[in-house]
Amino acid sequence: MSTVAEVQAAVEALWPAARAEGWDAVGLVAGALSDRVDRILLAVDAVAATVDEAVSGGFGLLLTHHPLLLRGVTSIAADRYKGAMLTRLVRSGTALLAAHTNADAVDTGTSGVLARRLGLEGVEPIEPNALGGGIGRVGDLREAISLGRLARAIAALLPSTAGGVLVSGEYEREVRRIAVCGGAGDSFLAHPSVLGADVYVTADLRHHPASEAREQAALSGGPALVNVSHWASEWLWLEQAAAELHAALPHVELVVSELRTDPWDFAIVQ
Ligand SMILES: [Zn+2]
Repeated sequence: MSTVAEVQAAVEALWPAARAEGWDAVGLVAGALSDRVDRILLAVDAVAATVDEAVSGGFGLLLTHHPLLLRGVTSIAADRYKGAMLTRLVRSGTALLAAHTNADAVDTGTSGVLARRLGLEGVEPIEPNALGGGIGRVGDLREAISLGRLARAIAALLPSTAGGVLVSGEYEREVRRIAVCGGAGDSFLAHPSVLGADVYVTADLRHHPASEAREQAALSGGPALVNVSHWASEWLWLEQAAAELHAALPHVELVVSELRTDPWDFAIVQ
């Protein structure tokens, strides 16, 4: 067995809080440091389904990628979603801990796992962090493939979601240099490392940023776009995180939640 404090220390060693973006809120969200932890559940989001899974499964700690509390709240009353989650967790003695942009920054973080699973070589961060690592990754496939084949490989790699995989670019276009950013990566659409890639794989691309990137690429060159589920793009990391935590805490059982916390339930393809 371990304690919440020991889990917190292992998380800090793997994903130092100092590497998180300035706006982020990572670390322990709820829980007493001396409480015992025998089992940890890993999930992308702290939502009713994953909190239920943690509490009913007797997990001492729920580790999520997204912080439940990111912006200021003035109430954790249980008639609001976040208050309800915290009430349930605290009453059951289940700790909640978030590893977010601090886990994106490391080489085995969200984007690093995507880059490795896509078989990229010569991988480097899109935006290096002063403390090492950084956000997003860019690297090369061993040989060029069509954009369509790459999109199919990405679809096969990620857990299935209603939104599937959306592509901006010709199916037969040859691509080799791939930029990836797990989660919402639209802020890097004009980054030189992304503009220098053949394709940019990220999530949550909205109409205007995607449309403007597409138009600019037609004028002066730029990557094809592959838009995937935000949840799916980060879910792949959980298995890696569980393995790293297990090495640090060999007496704690690590379980990755299989629940899909992507907010979309179904799609009508026209
Ligand atoms: Zn995210």
